[in-house]
Amino acid sequence: MNDSVKGGEDQGRYKGTINLPQTSFAMKADLPKREPGMLADWEKRGRYAALQEHTGAREHAFILHDGPPYANGAIHLGHAVNKILKDIVVRSKLMAGFRSPYVPGWDCHGLPIEIAVEKKHGKVGQKVDAAEFRRLCREYAAKQIDLQRADFKRLGVLGEWENPYKTMDFRYEADMIRALAKIHARGHVTRGFKPVYWCFDCGSALAEAEIEYQDKTSPAIDVAYDAIDPAALAAKFGATVGDGDIVAVPIWTTTPWTLPASFAVTLGPELDYVLVEGPPRGDRHVMLVVAEALAERVLMRYGVEEVRVLGRAKGATLSSLLPPGEGGASASDEGSDAHGNSGGSEPSPQPLSRRERGSVSRALRHPFYDDREIAIILGDHVSAEDGTGAVHTAPGHGVEDFAVGQKYGLVDAHTPSELNPMGPNGVYLPGTPIFAGQYIWKANDTIIELLRERGMLLAHEKIVHSYPHCWRHKTPVAFRTTPQWFIAMDQAKLRGDSLKAIHEDVTWYPSWGEERIASMVEGRPDWCISRQRTWGVPIALFVDKVGKQPHPRSVELMEQVAQRVEKEGADAWYALDARDLLGDEADDYEKVTDILDVWFDSGVSHFCVLDQRANLARGPGDKVIYLEGSDQHRGWFHSSLLTSVAMHGRAPYDEVLTHGFTVDEQGRKMSKSLGNGIEPQDVMKDYGADILRLWIASADYRNEMALSPTILKRVADAYRRIRNTARFLLGNLHGFDPARDLLPVKDSLLLDQWAVQQAFDTQETIVAAYKRYDFPEIVQRIQNFCTNEMGSLYLDITKDRLYTMREDSRGRRSAQGAMYRILEAMVRWLAPVLAFTAEEIWQLMPGERGESVLFETWYTELAPMSDGDQHSMTKLLGLRSKLTWELEFHRNSGWIGSSLDAEVRVEVPSEVLEVFAPYKDEIRFLCLVSDMEIATKSQTHSGGFPISAQTVLPTGEEIILGIRTSEARKCIRCWHHRPDVGSHPEHRDICGRCASNVEGPGEDRQFF
Ligand SMILES: [Zn+2]
Ligand SMILES: [Zn+2]
Repeated sequence: MNDSVKGGEDQGRYKGTINLPQTSFAMKADLPKREPGMLADWEKRGRYAALQEHTGAREHAFILHDGPPYANGAIHLGHAVNKILKDIVVRSKLMAGFRSPYVPGWDCHGLPIEIAVEKKHGKVGQKVDAAEFRRLCREYAAKQIDLQRADFKRLGVLGEWENPYKTMDFRYEADMIRALAKIHARGHVTRGFKPVYWCFDCGSALAEAEIEYQDKTSPAIDVAYDAIDPAALAAKFGATVGDGDIVAVPIWTTTPWTLPASFAVTLGPELDYVLVEGPPRGDRHVMLVVAEALAERVLMRYGVEEVRVLGRAKGATLSSLLPPGEGGASASDEGSDAHGNSGGSEPSPQPLSRRERGSVSRALRHPFYDDREIAIILGDHVSAEDGTGAVHTAPGHGVEDFAVGQKYGLVDAHTPSELNPMGPNGVYLPGTPIFAGQYIWKANDTIIELLRERGMLLAHEKIVHSYPHCWRHKTPVAFRTTPQWFIAMDQAKLRGDSLKAIHEDVTWYPSWGEERIASMVEGRPDWCISRQRTWGVPIALFVDKVGKQPHPRSVELMEQVAQRVEKEGADAWYALDARDLLGDEADDYEKVTDILDVWFDSGVSHFCVLDQRANLARGPGDKVIYLEGSDQHRGWFHSSLLTSVAMHGRAPYDEVLTHGFTVDEQGRKMSKSLGNGIEPQDVMKDYGADILRLWIASADYRNEMALSPTILKRVADAYRRIRNTARFLLGNLHGFDPARDLLPVKDSLLLDQWAVQQAFDTQETIVAAYKRYDFPEIVQRIQNFCTNEMGSLYLDITKDRLYTMREDSRGRRSAQGAMYRILEAMVRWLAPVLAFTAEEIWQLMPGERGESVLFETWYTELAPMSDGDQHSMTKLLGLRSKLTWELEFHRNSGWIGSSLDAEVRVEVPSEVLEVFAPYKDEIRFLCLVSDMEIATKSQTHSGGFPISAQTVLPTGEEIILGIRTSEARKCIRCWHHRPDVGSHPEHRDICGRCASNVEGPGEDRQFF
């Protein structure tokens, strides 16, 4: 049957008696035009505020806390994916009956904005002062926020857009200082002199998260460290030396520029070392100390083919210096640190006492600073995998070097500029012997040349290795030891407590997130939170001028500063006269001018946003979810966790969901040069937000999410199927008033009960999938429902009843009731994903209803049918599918036209006949044939059915299908071939039931 030709034959005599679908829900979605109009309408009505009012009294909150995007540049596809996934979660939580406010945020401080402002207005101290510079940064960020906000809203993302959180809000800045005060109060903040990643282009320390690894070509050199007393070192190997013989420990390094800061050579205590014949230096005989396992490879590099071992020794026996404590010396006389190391499980390295420093035993000579004596020390980090088994140690330029240098007292024994002889710009400091004023990367060559001249260079080659780079500048970074502020991982058990929170407080989606973040927390160094920049929130501490330790009343002072910052912004700190807060004490203290790492800004949003806004308050049983890209295990998830555990001892979130990045169809990263990028703004223009949203929901966010023009077209097709189903349901609900016409499910026709049950089952699947954030499953299930249960079954079968029966007949109202219920359920399933289309459907549905589908929760008026009925329907539909297949086959061969041209006889086993018997008069409507007879298989097959097919029901029973074309006349109204066509004197061209529907009491229908 086809809507457009139905009833067309008799010049429309019966046209008016057919109930064709009617709806203003357009077939063509026209989303790029329709959506902006709907947005404007929601804005005018204050939809978000109305929604909060409507749902504000719900018992439990489920809060998606927004990870702030950086306020710089137009939004790209990754932003769209992130914000839409968040919106889907928020909407699904509303549907599930939670209060689910969403406050979007922006990250506003930091270097990219500084750089953008510098480009336009110059650096601080040139044309603008710091205060003016900060004002320009603030203005710049505000503009970026406006641009991004408009695009986010266009995606259909619902939120408190007019009152978002911004990390540059005065209140936020003040609360950051309060958060820091709390972390300080709990003993996690330290001032350290430690190696941190340093970008010379940023001129600032970098956080772990700001580092990316790229290949770099570096010189790899072997350098001889000669023994000051060759005989003494050789003796440890049981060897003797002749006059003028050299004994040296060769080291291998890829960073020659660190040699000016070299203060020790570290050996592995458990490694076996050998003393071997090395290549002669001029006419002098050379013996080398190398790890036994590496000896052959090392000597090969030096052009020595034969390994001549002169003696062996364990690394542990070779050190020239013992760490304090092991040598019987007393523990440090430095006193405990500022916060009192409260006996955590991690022993902290004890520095050499001042008494011991003078007696440090030096074994080797620096390769080019003749007056510098070098100790041989031991460290477990030394391996025999590559190099020589001896590591040149510059405590100022590496984390392990620093740790071991601290353990042996070398850090305390040298001045900062000795340990770290380079400035923030990567140039050796004035006073650095030989290299002062040279840029470190360039100095590599000079150093190698100098080593060669002095005969200390044993080997030199170039290697390509993975090296840390600045994520913004893409330039290599260096470890630089400067005074910085840290959140200590172990000083007050932050690491242990964070790991506990990861495993005990949080559900991770996908589940591998748990191990990922745990391994990062396990291995991370202390968090360097200070930056030497202008646009940010100050580490508002007063430190004493001598020891540089925070004022004892810091917590209280920071609150006073916060109150000022709340009124005037971060500038209040810089403008503050220390005397105002400290009085006469001010002479002994100075203000810290470093600003906080931007990861701290966003990392304390749980405190500055969630804990501050009344509508985000949580009670017992309420939940918080964070949802970001998978790189945030080392970024925002990580910084938020550390600050929250540091402040409160627990995770800031109950659930964490991560999504992958967008790629093209071939799995390649999107980029300008490949020309495979897709901008969300263009998708809005060509397809509309709901298509983008449907793609995002259907793509598996746990992996990379592929998008291309072809994929977009495919998604648009999928959208059309859903839209058409909704349109068919809406069209058939024309004239239906649920208050007057809705039958209880149990009083509905069997097929309608079945359809409602399908919706019931589908909804259970969908609600469960929303709960575990399995959005692709939801889209798949909705599509299958539209295509299978609805499109090719229910909607097809009910057309006859809906179109031909009397408008207010029970049979028609029953179908309408089922469709009404199905659409009520379906519009809610769609509401989280198709933000616009769901509302469009909602507005056109019959009956009294609220302003938005989002005011509702999952539909509860669906019900499963009885087991007995289910059993029958399974058998009946099994028969239908076999018959449909058979009819389709013969239609394709041209033997019959429409299925309504056919009459069917089915022979079934007697137990199946029992199941079918009650439905025998209506089963033809289920199977869309003009007549259908069911008999037991034992009866002899009578003639007249030229086609006879033996087949098996899906439930296993063998049946025989007999098919023939009907010889009865065709009713021009319903197109069934019936013997009673023409039997009504007034209606010669229609069948008996049609005549009754047109003029009589109307037909009755029980089942289909
Ligand atoms: Zn940089
Ligand atoms: Zn008819």
